[in-house]
Amino acid sequence: MKIRDGQVVSIHYTLKLANGEVVDSSDGADPLEYLHGAGNIVLGLERELDGHEVGDRLTAIVQPDDGYGTRDEDAIQSVPRSAFPDDIEIEPGMQFFAHLPEGGEQAIWVVAADDQTVTVDPNHPLAGEVLHFAVEVTGIRAATEEEMEHGHPHGPDGHGHHHEH
Ligand code: ZN
Repeated sequence: MKIRDGQVVSIHYTLKLANGEVVDSSDGADPLEYLHGAGNIVLGLERELDGHEVGDRLTAIVQPDDGYGTRDEDAIQSVPRSAFPDDIEIEPGMQFFAHLPEGGEQAIWVVAADDQTVTVDPNHPLAGEVLHFAVEVTGIRAATEEEMEHGHPHGPDGHGHHHEH
């Protein structure tokens, strides 16, 4: 079985930056499951995995345009602390979803915060980085109809519970 659109693929992976720093890995955890062709993982990695089989090991060097995008420094904004919930402590690195005036949501990351002002960055923390993936394919199965409708996998047997909708 080769990886193609509509299949649920399991991979072990390590993600390094160009300087060798490991920023993410499935090491010591279950493999990552994703629905191929649904944009669950960065485009450049999905493209490299296409056509591979269980047991294959590969490396993929993904440029920002096919990864987490290029950085737009002008998009960094300061917003009043009052725009955030009172009952949580706002700290750098936290992620929020801002509701856009035109509808939909935009992920933002806190880069600085004090009592008055929170500085937020809509750039993904890995935007602008060249991504170096080392991947091993550990499983491939056909997606269920429900998984295809939802655009993401539902666990090893396709019937797992989840709440990210
Ligand atoms: Zn679902």
